[in-house]
Amino acid sequence: MTLDVQTWLDVGRKNLSEHYRTAFHESLSNPSRDYWTCVFEEHAEAALSRVADLLNEAKIQADGCLVLGGATPRKVKFKGGRKYAYQFVHTVLTALLASYEDVVRHTCHNRNCIRPDHLISGTRAENYQDERERRYLGR
Ligand SMILES: [Zn+2]
Repeated sequence: MTLDVQTWLDVGRKNLSEHYRTAFHESLSNPSRDYWTCVFEEHAEAALSRVADLLNEAKIQADGCLVLGGATPRKVKFKGGRKYAYQFVHTVLTALLASYEDVVRHTCHNRNCIRPDHLISGTRAENYQDERERRYLGR
């Protein structure tokens, strides 16, 4: 299986370049949104480069998941923030400002997976359902 890391990065670069502040931006301000706004607007290339490092380091598994080493999901330190690697990859590549209620979900139920097309945005309620299914599947 070949993975086109460059295509994922190109899409991410385009999404980041199209990021803009909506009329509601200031009223929705919170520490998480402010952090990602700063990343999107001031550190886009450095963030993409970190995503590239993570994707290149991760190993492809037989089930298609792209997994970083370690028993628990890896965290990424970047520009004063500390995020899960899957959260970092998804948020940077989609350039979507998440609110508190938004989470990054795994369609594969593998929390160590950072493969961009296994990651989707969702709500906390949906994530809770994912977690129940994941436990049920013994992952
Ligand atoms: Zn996966």
